[in-house]
Amino acid sequence: ATMPPLLAAIATAGRHGVLVKSALVMERLGTVTRVAFDKTGTLTEGRPHLAEVRLLPGAATGRTGGLTKERLLALAAAAEQPSEHSLGRAVVRAAHAAGLAIAPADEFASEPGRGVRARVGGLLVEVAGPTGPRHDRNRAAHEAITDLQNSGYTAVVVRLDGTAVGVLALADQIRPGAAEAVTRLTVLTGAAPVLLTGDNAPAAVQLAGQAGIGDVRAELLPEDKVNAVTDLQRRGARVALVGDGVNDAPALVTAHVGIAMGRAGSDLALDTADAVITRDELTAVPTAIALARRARRIVI
Ligand code: ADP
Ligand code: MG
Repeated sequence: ATMPPLLAAIATAGRHGVLVKSALVMERLGTVTRVAFDKTGTLTEGRPHLAEVRLLPGAATGRTGGLTKERLLALAAAAEQPSEHSLGRAVVRAAHAAGLAIAPADEFASEPGRGVRARVGGLLVEVAGPTGPRHDRNRAAHEAITDLQNSGYTAVVVRLDGTAVGVLALADQIRPGAAEAVTRLTVLTGAAPVLLTGDNAPAAVQLAGQAGIGDVRAELLPEDKVNAVTDLQRRGARVALVGDGVNDAPALVTAHVGIAMGRAGSDLALDTADAVITRDELTAVPTAIALARRARRIVI
């Protein structure tokens, strides 16, 4: 017996590195007209490295007296130790590489798209992006953040008991195949893909340029990613979103087809998505869409 076209397409897509969870998803994939990508961990490798540690003036005095870059990094790593976010893991790796002892932390809490906080010894340590309600009014912090962002870095602020004491600069690399995937998707759908990211605008624009994406929406919280997808859909697009993070999960559900990164992806993204890119090769996305379209033509 011959296999129904949608099931045959699922099998073929699987061999090309895309696990499509149902025939219905395979069918929907064939109707996609616009693709949106998350940045960190999706268009990028998701293995950022710590490029710079900046102590803010005044950090060496006061209650946190004698703060050094090493101590700052060790405290940030202690707070990030339980984090599954790529930035958190990069901070912990850097502390290990520097041979620093990482103290245990209590009361760990993470806010998707924002950052983490935990109690380390007697100190409340927060490591978070500069966006959100706690946006830094501290002038030195603001200057350091702007400077690092303009150089293309992701900048995160370290606060001790609520006071900004340092800024960490992290850099990630574009995935090989990202630009090719963008070109093929533009040809397939007749529309250039969109970048939706929680990261800062200068870093996002720089990475988007390397990938060949012109439409960039930055500093998005998880609910803003949902709104961005809904906005595209209201204007008639059938959107596939490719993402890896806990912060992408609500938008993966909202999209016509949510696609998660299989290796880099968080468990939540993998569970929530309709399809999974098993080898984290972005060119598998246009391949799967092309297969889905062919299967639809056979079915109809
Ligand atoms: P993206 O949408 O590009 O994948 P995220 O939404 O995961 O990015 O993160 C957005 C921003 O939130 C990061 O650029 C960073 O500023 C901040 N952030 C998220 N998680 C952490 C963390 N564990 N430590 C520090 N900052 C974080
Ligand atoms: Mg991400």
